[in-house]
Amino acid sequence: MLEKYYPYEYAKNVFVIDYKKLYEQGYRGLIFDIDNTLVHHGEPSTERVDKLFAYLRRLGFKTLLLTNNDDERVQLFIKNIDTEYICDADKPSPKAYLAAIEKLGLPKEKCVSLGDQMFIDVIGANGVGLPNILVHYVEVPGEKWLGFKRYLEMAVLFIYRRRKKYTHRLGNIIKRGKRK
Ligand SMILES: [Mg+2]
Repeated sequence: MLEKYYPYEYAKNVFVIDYKKLYEQGYRGLIFDIDNTLVHHGEPSTERVDKLFAYLRRLGFKTLLLTNNDDERVQLFIKNIDTEYICDADKPSPKAYLAAIEKLGLPKEKCVSLGDQMFIDVIGANGVGLPNILVHYVEVPGEKWLGFKRYLEMAVLFIYRRRKKYTHRLGNIIKRGKRK
């Protein structure tokens, strides 16, 4: 019953993922949520994120940013990033994910979606059978209030992590020593 909320993998952030291993497994497209996945909500990109995208391009990945936020927000973010994007995406609608896959020009089996929200990014990707990774949301020092949805996520995550059939479905792709 909860399976639709289960990601293929859970990572503490986008930097602990071994993208080279994903590439070696045949994955060619990466679909990223922006807000609270790559940077804190509404913020421009960071040097570390810019470097990550440059690295992914060197590895041979096609990338796409899939966001429910608007074009202005994307423009602020992609100043130093060369990537496809879709804004005002209406996630978790299947249409958003199908449009992303189509824009990448790859079969969905060769794409991985990454996002911080179980009830948007994970459920949306699972809805179209797209492999996906849930990353822990970007935390900001001093930010204490968590929305109700985050507590629900934690509860589902607690159960998910005991369902070995569902965890680590992309293989051993968390860098050594970085598994949470
Ligand atoms: Mg997000």
